[in-house]
Amino acid sequence: MVIAMDTVLVRVLGPKTATAMADQLALHTVRDLLRHYPRRYARRGEMSKLDDLEVGDRVTVLAQVKSASTRPMRQRRGTLTEVTVGDGAGSMRLVFFTSKHAHLKVGEWGLFAGTVGKWQGALQFTHPDCHVITGDDDDWARALVPIYPASKDVSSWVIQRSVKLLLDDPHSLDAALDDPIPEPVRRRHGLITLARALVDKHRPETLEDVERADERLKWDEALVLQVTLAARRRAAALEPGIARPRRSGGLLDAVDSRLPFSLTEGQREVGDELAAELGREQPMNRLLQGEVGSGKTVVALRAMAQVVDAGGQAALLAPTEVLAAQHARSLTAILGPLGRAGELDGDPAGTRVTLLTGSQKAAARRTARAAAADGSAGIVVGTHALLQEGVEFADLGLVVVDEQHRFGVEQRDALRAKGTRPPHVLVMTATPIPRTVAMTVYGDLETSTLRQLPAGRGGVSSSVVPVGEKPAWLDRAWVRVREEVAAGRQAYVVCPRIGEEEGNANDGRGPDEGPDDADGAPPDEKGSSSDRRPPLAVLDVAEGLRAGPLSTLRVEVLHGRLPPEEKEARMRAFAAGEVDVLVATTVVEVGVDVPNATVMVVMDADRFGVSQLHQLRGRVARGAHAGLCLLVSEASSSSPTGQRLAAVAATTDGFELARLDLETRREGDVLGAAQSGRRSGVRLLSLLDDEALISEARVEATALVESDRGLADHPELAAAVAALATDERADWLEKA
Ligand code: ADP
Ligand code: MG
Repeated sequence: MVIAMDTVLVRVLGPKTATAMADQLALHTVRDLLRHYPRRYARRGEMSKLDDLEVGDRVTVLAQVKSASTRPMRQRRGTLTEVTVGDGAGSMRLVFFTSKHAHLKVGEWGLFAGTVGKWQGALQFTHPDCHVITGDDDDWARALVPIYPASKDVSSWVIQRSVKLLLDDPHSLDAALDDPIPEPVRRRHGLITLARALVDKHRPETLEDVERADERLKWDEALVLQVTLAARRRAAALEPGIARPRRSGGLLDAVDSRLPFSLTEGQREVGDELAAELGREQPMNRLLQGEVGSGKTVVALRAMAQVVDAGGQAALLAPTEVLAAQHARSLTAILGPLGRAGELDGDPAGTRVTLLTGSQKAAARRTARAAAADGSAGIVVGTHALLQEGVEFADLGLVVVDEQHRFGVEQRDALRAKGTRPPHVLVMTATPIPRTVAMTVYGDLETSTLRQLPAGRGGVSSSVVPVGEKPAWLDRAWVRVREEVAAGRQAYVVCPRIGEEEGNANDGRGPDEGPDDADGAPPDEKGSSSDRRPPLAVLDVAEGLRAGPLSTLRVEVLHGRLPPEEKEARMRAFAAGEVDVLVATTVVEVGVDVPNATVMVVMDADRFGVSQLHQLRGRVARGAHAGLCLLVSEASSSSPTGQRLAAVAATTDGFELARLDLETRREGDVLGAAQSGRRSGVRLLSLLDDEALISEARVEATALVESDRGLADHPELAAAVAALATDERADWLEKA
């Protein structure tokens, strides 16, 4: 029989095994099975490491039967089989309350998989799965026995045997294995063939075999990914948009003359880059990343002004209502009369800035929609409400997505689709993106970076307040807050939860707060969260502060459950200096801009992710005064959590923090896919470790896609790319 990669497993394996593999491991085809790689390799002599195991761990050991005995049980009816296995370095007991395994013979080698238990001080497996390696099985001779991710009815050795069946039939498999990596690419990067790599990965002689195979198999993953992205970039480039060249004497010049500061060099450079790209017919697709407070908004505003000057409209999408409202407010302020065309004091040569959010009253929303549809609003600022059907633009020329990490590609595309021709797109993020992530998750965008902060910033220093160890330090924190307020400054106190949510549907979360783990609190802490006390709540903390250490100050609360007008009113009061201390949830995480605020106290700081903390503290580094960020946590300073907080406190280098963030999150979380990486096709590739490989693959992919015949000469690669595209709509590409 000829085996092809797409051959379904039922045609190769027994129906029972094939069905179990499909149901439990989502392995359907020969390709799936061959890409189901061993998780590790068992070796003789490994049992010495068993001492590190804890009761409850699930493990597989390769060992030899040292003794075996079967006898009737004393207390009850039935038979007890006791087996001791060892590998020269250690030994353990296997116990079966049946005689089923009485056949195990002294001297036999086998794989034993079970959950570690302890009995009379010694480790033991109760009812482990056993796989005796028989004489005619050449695995017997192997130094490395592959251990596969297995399931209830598909054990590691069933997988091993099935893979062997495929690999041992070289003449059918060789024919099936068209290598997706073109030969010249393999040659340039010293990669072995796919057939060789699969054999080495599944049946290695040495660990060097595995290493070489990994390198090659990672290339498969990186190349398919990068070709997908390169194809997307190319498709976008081929779809003409409308040129919006710079025109003088319009809104943009007015903005420039009204700005209360001069642009930083970076803002000017990026601005020129954007101005040139907007002037071309080919739609711009650009990611602007820049530290918190680096002044991205004004860069976006200038781009929007250029597009309005050229007769188009611009839409600005923000992740929260607080931020959308703030943007609308500050754009209107900078534009002055030019932003109020149609109003009494407005300049008829100008345009209008309109706000559109989900919780606006119906009438306000209707007015905003009408202004977008008839073109009288040149700039439309909004939240997700912008994306809805029925929101139309007269001539959408530029889409700006602020805080892109809060959105997915789908949302960007939904807004893009509202242009009659593809609009220019600018996405902005303050969450620094490690290069590897920029090349993968954001790989269809060109990137600009604002490295420098506007001059005269006081900077922010951070400290951990370990209340578990030094409870008195918390009092010190409130003293600092009082001192700052006495000096004319303001403060934020951030808590993970709103509070008083009993009986409230939405889990006490407002539309602006998002899920707890949106920013990936480290996985080791997620599981245990249920046995910890609930996180501190805004309402409780505010009450405690008003009654206690901050009783002399004006304390206000802000959270996503408040009605939008109320949120806006409180934010405005804080911005106007009528409130000293704002106790808030993460509604203030992104974008909120009150330069007079100089202290932030983050309660239960360990409940926030690294990037989130960095974002939050960006709120107090916005003016000329030095900022202070206090990370309050009960975590002991020597615990991993305590150390993570210390690392956040120790550096303000966003890129270093992004890396730290990546380390504390699982790859799958970053890619947005299920932890297995199954959907993404990413199993071996690591965003942390494989930067060089990913960037080489990107170069090759771009060249392949742009070559004369594109992928036509590489059917296997094209098939792999197509498979990724259809796989759940390339789910992992959608979110960062
Ligand atoms: P982010 O990049 O985090 O979105 P913003 O655009 O909100 O930052 O800018 C942060 C603050 O810096 C705002 O108050 C803004 O007015 C101010 N700002 C922006 N550019 C400059 C500049 N060139 N000089 C001084 N202040 C600036
Ligand atoms: Mg911003």
